Amino acid sequence: MDIFEKLLQNLGPIGQHSDRAHGYFAFPKLEGEIGARMKFRGKEKIVWSLNNYLGLANHPEVRQADAAAAKQYGLATPMGARMMSGSTDLHDQLEKELSEFEKKEDTVLLNFGYQGIMSAIDALVGRHDVVVYDAECHASIIDGLRLHQGKRYVYKHNDIEDCEKQLKRAEALIAASGGGILLVTEGVFGMAGDQGKLKEIVDLKHKFNFRLLVDDAHGFGTLGKTGAGVGEEQGCQDGIDLYFSTFAKSMASIGAFISGPVGIIRYLRYNMRSQIFAKSLPMPLVLGNLKRLQLLREKRELKEKLWHNVEKLQTGLRERGFNIGHTNSPVTPIYLQGDIPEATAMCLDLRENYNIFCSIVVYPVIPKGQIIYRLIPTAAHSDEDIEQTLQAFSETKEKLDAKAYAVAEIPM
Ligand code: PMP
Repeated sequence: MDIFEKLLQNLGPIGQHSDRAHGYFAFPKLEGEIGARMKFRGKEKIVWSLNNYLGLANHPEVRQADAAAAKQYGLATPMGARMMSGSTDLHDQLEKELSEFEKKEDTVLLNFGYQGIMSAIDALVGRHDVVVYDAECHASIIDGLRLHQGKRYVYKHNDIEDCEKQLKRAEALIAASGGGILLVTEGVFGMAGDQGKLKEIVDLKHKFNFRLLVDDAHGFGTLGKTGAGVGEEQGCQDGIDLYFSTFAKSMASIGAFISGPVGIIRYLRYNMRSQIFAKSLPMPLVLGNLKRLQLLREKRELKEKLWHNVEKLQTGLRERGFNIGHTNSPVTPIYLQGDIPEATAMCLDLRENYNIFCSIVVYPVIPKGQIIYRLIPTAAHSDEDIEQTLQAFSETKEKLDAKAYAVAEIPM
């Protein structure tokens, strides 16, 4: 059978549904300056779906640094992979500043978070090694595990007892093969918003011999006294062997990094295929990220504003009877009772009649049977944005509870 024909046949109802949802739920287009209020289909909405935690996307100093770097260097500079011709003093400087901030010996820059962590896992473990990982790890980690030729043992989400069980299994296996153990988890789980139990995992090092890689995409810049992330927040940064974050969230940019011991970072520099065989970060991103990192460190008021908003939103939702699960980060999931069509209708009502733009998340991003609205408060939101949103959610929840929603017709 022709491979294209087969794919089109498999599209079935999902394909038809996505056609209808296209531009509305799937691939929606937000217009205007990035911030708390943007335009959707020509009308202003309060936006809750951008990981612009510190509001840096549109910070005047950031915009100026981005523009100046683009003017000076253009998008092409430098040309080539880091190892060949793509390195500059400014790449080194960004790595040095990140190492200092994360209190690690060294750092390697990555072009994107997704392929960066995937390729780091690929480089770190071989056929005889075992990876132990949390069941709710991000797709980029799972895809890294797909490249791994050895065993991988998954533990139930944030379940330390099960984690210990899997470490025991791993230890038994490597006793014969001579391999090692890499434990991979996250600082903040991006859908449910709960922090990984890093302190407890680090404590397991007294019992087991493993190395710990943490993806702190959502914790970097939002958690810890200085914003250095979940390791700092939980007082166990030293026990994290390799600390990873993307620049795509608090830094409102592109790129990523891994920090850790100097020898292992050197090893990663020469062995990560996604970096050896790909062009390095262009100068506007390097300079733009240096500026963002400076603001993230110096302008503590941005993180304070973020947390003021997080508390106001999360307390307001809880007081109004919403189930927001066990989040202890800015990520705010609203768990809904109901079927997908009703939840979709509520989302549409929020968007069309209350001018609230948020994302609805279903399987396969979260476990089957769950429906969440995922709200991301940022430093760019105002008290008024939050109050208006809480009011809208209260009114629409009443309609949902009263089963007042029929199947949504998405406006064309
Ligand atoms: N890890 C986690 C936990 C993420 O949420 C994401 C998505 N931003 C990534 C990795 C991938 O990062 P990037 O967008 O830089 O590719």
